[in-house]
Amino acid sequence: MLIVMKQDATEAQVRAVVEVIEAMGYEARPMPGRQRTTVGLVGNDGRVDDSRLDGLGGVAEVIHVSKPYKQVSREWKAEPTRVPLPDGSMVGGREVIVMAGPCSVESEEQILTAARQVKAAGATVLRAGAFKPRSSPYAFQGLGKLGLELLAHAREETGLLIVTEAMDPAGLELVVAHADIVQIGARNMQNYSLLKECGRIRKPILLKRGLSATIPELLLSAEYILAEGNPNVILCERGIRSFDATTRNLFDLAAIAVVHGLSHLPIVADPSHGTGHRDMVPPMARAAIAAGADGLLIEVHPNPERALSDGAQSLFPEQFERTMREVAAIAEVIGRGVVTPAGIAS
Ligand code: PEP
Ligand code: MN
Repeated sequence: MLIVMKQDATEAQVRAVVEVIEAMGYEARPMPGRQRTTVGLVGNDGRVDDSRLDGLGGVAEVIHVSKPYKQVSREWKAEPTRVPLPDGSMVGGREVIVMAGPCSVESEEQILTAARQVKAAGATVLRAGAFKPRSSPYAFQGLGKLGLELLAHAREETGLLIVTEAMDPAGLELVVAHADIVQIGARNMQNYSLLKECGRIRKPILLKRGLSATIPELLLSAEYILAEGNPNVILCERGIRSFDATTRNLFDLAAIAVVHGLSHLPIVADPSHGTGHRDMVPPMARAAIAAGADGLLIEVHPNPERALSDGAQSLFPEQFERTMREVAAIAEVIGRGVVTPAGIAS
């Protein structure tokens, strides 16, 4: 439930609302806005009797949030959330952000080369996994801690921000110490203990859609993070499983528009895992930006044929360069730009 205060409501009136909510046994979340303050009521399981609240001084309106995901819903917050990044840029603003790099960190030379290449093409965030959730236990599992250190080195060398995956609550702290954005992979979208831990930190969380998760399930997973207190969540459409094996996953472009309708959270698109084939990545990257995605997560490798994971869907550096130019042109047509390395819009 959401209690919307009148524009001229006093601090004492807001405090009174908070006290009544707490006396009713729930938790109150005051949210001062530009126009007016709203007070969120959380901790309820089912409809709350609002009779003690709607008559209080300074209360303009009491809204019952109809969706099971509350704090991530548009009903709760109409304005889009902008997730701030350490370089001054943000995800969810006018400009779209591009995060690019190899699937995995493989060596110092590989990650530094990739970082320089994606930076030269205009990306501002370097993506690469150090801890890799692989379907087979015999496949390359990532370099672990060394991979994180190599990513931190790449950040020092290039100024790029780092997004990398945390696979479990025990490993989260180490990832948080090295990453600017913590990625929660598709296989962990419903790892609720991991999501709760992500809610207790303040670093931005990139939450990828589960292998066969519905959009409400994705939003409920994001709700776990917001409910614990971290508002900095970036959703990611990366395709879902389908009956048709022509593409690795079914890249759900409509999810971008649906999520923007249901939630104030930003959503980026990952056409690499969404399609599984490098030649399909540029067209789907262009389409995702046209559909309103707030950014892209793209796999690029200095030498995709020798990649230790996901080589078939990794772009050659020159393919990525061309894609960046096309994406910038499409962003401009829809009144957006692309975040540039200094965090300043192009
Ligand atoms: C990845 O980003 O490399 C990855 C493992 O993605 P997903 O969790 O979407 O499969
Ligand atoms: Mn990958």
